[in-house]
Amino acid sequence: METLIIGCGIAGASAALRLSDDPSQHITIITRAPDPEDSNTSWAQGGIVTRGLDDNPSLLVEDIVRAGAGLSSRQAAYVLATEGPKLVQSVLVETCGVQFDRADDGELVYGLEAAHSRRRVVHKGDKTGAVITRQLLLTLQARPNITLLTDHTAVDLMVHDGHCVGATVLNRQTGEIEPVLAHHTILATGGVGQLFRNTTNPAGARGDGVAMAMRAGATISNAEYIQFHPTAMYINEHPFPLVSEAVRGEGAILLTPDGRRFMLDVDPEWKELAPRDVVARAIYSEMKLNGYEHVWLDIASQRSPDYIRERFPQLVENCAKAGIDPTCDPIPVVPAAHYFCGGISVDLWGQTSVAGLYAIGEVSCTGLHGANRLASTSLLEGLVWGDRAARDILTRDTYHLPRIIPPFTSDADPEFDIQQMMGFLQNLMWEHVGLMRDETGLRQAHQHIQWLRKQVEKQYRYSRPTDALIGLRNAAQVAGLITDAALQNQTSTGAHYRTDSVRERLHVS
Ligand SMILES: Cc1cc2nc3c(=O)[nH]c(=O)nc-3n(C[C@H](O)[C@H](O)[C@H](O)COP(=O)(O)OP(=O)(O)OC[C@H]3O[C@@H](n4cnc5c(N)ncnc54)[C@H](O)[C@@H]3O)c2cc1C
Repeated sequence: METLIIGCGIAGASAALRLSDDPSQHITIITRAPDPEDSNTSWAQGGIVTRGLDDNPSLLVEDIVRAGAGLSSRQAAYVLATEGPKLVQSVLVETCGVQFDRADDGELVYGLEAAHSRRRVVHKGDKTGAVITRQLLLTLQARPNITLLTDHTAVDLMVHDGHCVGATVLNRQTGEIEPVLAHHTILATGGVGQLFRNTTNPAGARGDGVAMAMRAGATISNAEYIQFHPTAMYINEHPFPLVSEAVRGEGAILLTPDGRRFMLDVDPEWKELAPRDVVARAIYSEMKLNGYEHVWLDIASQRSPDYIRERFPQLVENCAKAGIDPTCDPIPVVPAAHYFCGGISVDLWGQTSVAGLYAIGEVSCTGLHGANRLASTSLLEGLVWGDRAARDILTRDTYHLPRIIPPFTSDADPEFDIQQMMGFLQNLMWEHVGLMRDETGLRQAHQHIQWLRKQVEKQYRYSRPTDALIGLRNAAQVAGLITDAALQNQTSTGAHYRTDSVRERLHVS
């Protein structure tokens, strides 16, 4: 049987590895990126959740549901908490040889992150994602029944008699669009951070999978829940480098430019380790009210230089590029779009509402994250649902594939500046569909996006499809989806905050 996997971050790689255990399976895994290591997964710093020393699955489920503002699916959280730790050990450690940090006695070192009641996050310094990605790719490239194609952008899903039978794919080297037929198709295309001006996400996170699934008729849910990370480094580089939650987990404090530790007033109990949405909004409010360009994050006054260098090498490296030394200087930080809690609706096996189509990892909505994601659960979600989708596919019968004719494409260049249009969209989303939303701003955004989508569709129809044009088309479609979901949901919950919501007007906390 043929399976097409679109995206080779942790979710796609996990599915490919499990499927390839069966030699009768043939798996094609594609990425739009020229370098297969280019994904959100590679950029993950803090680590991946597993089971801590004094921990159990019920405690993790409770933490997930609390962070998700009560909207998380308990079933999904239970699956993650029970299957996840076993897969970290069997797939990442034993099969792929990932070596997480260990203490002198050989025991794993467990990190603490915001809103976790236990230390349970394993890591490799603050380069966890890069190490996991490298080891996953090395392992899957050695499997004879997996073909990895880089520089290939999926354009649209092909649906025949209600069953997804693969996708049309742009070969970025030749410029040709070809159909890739498959009995099962898995979307593992990651998030949507690039729809916003301030983001921590790499260039590929522009909602391609969500847009493709929408056009194929799949159900999407929870699109208004975008997680904004409180601390992205405010430097002259895009996307902004993330300053991991783990830095606050190890004691860093947030200060206004005049040295006020504002989180003491905002959340006296959890302070800097309050849930992400609370910290992100507190920073945003300080910036908006007082006209600050950024606030400061100070680890230097809390930890020794040696500790900072050893525990956060990536942070030290990123800071150095901007001329900052975090062992003695505070770091300028702002909030930035970071994670998509919503996505393509799937069941506990990653199956979407379209037969033959699965969605896993950040592109999907298992319901796990509810209105807000608990730190370091997304890598684990990709690992678990990649494995589950593959196991489900292995139980399915073969579907008879139809003959598909390659789509017609034009040679004409688009008549507008794609980069400029994307910049317009990103500004619009940041200003009106960002951390604090209201009806007036959302309606304005909705109108502009409608206009932009019309322009893009016209160009898309009559000009040569490039990766950038495909991305803009998808980004505009998903921006419309998020804006409309934010307009419809008038209740502030978790990451979705309406300044004009009923709760806000009644001052209910
Ligand atoms: C800076 C940063 C730090 C983070 N830190 C952590 C952390 O410490 N712990 C944690 O759990 N989570 C963390 N996250 C979140 C986590 O990294 C992601 O949620 C997770 O890696 C998503 O994995 P994925 O496999 O779903 O998608 P990704 O890893 O984003 O992979 C998506 C893949 O799809 C491909 N793709 C996209 N569109 C197309 C297309 N049209 N055609 C073909 N290919 C396409 C991309 O090229 C890529 O290969 C962090 C995220 C960021 C940005």
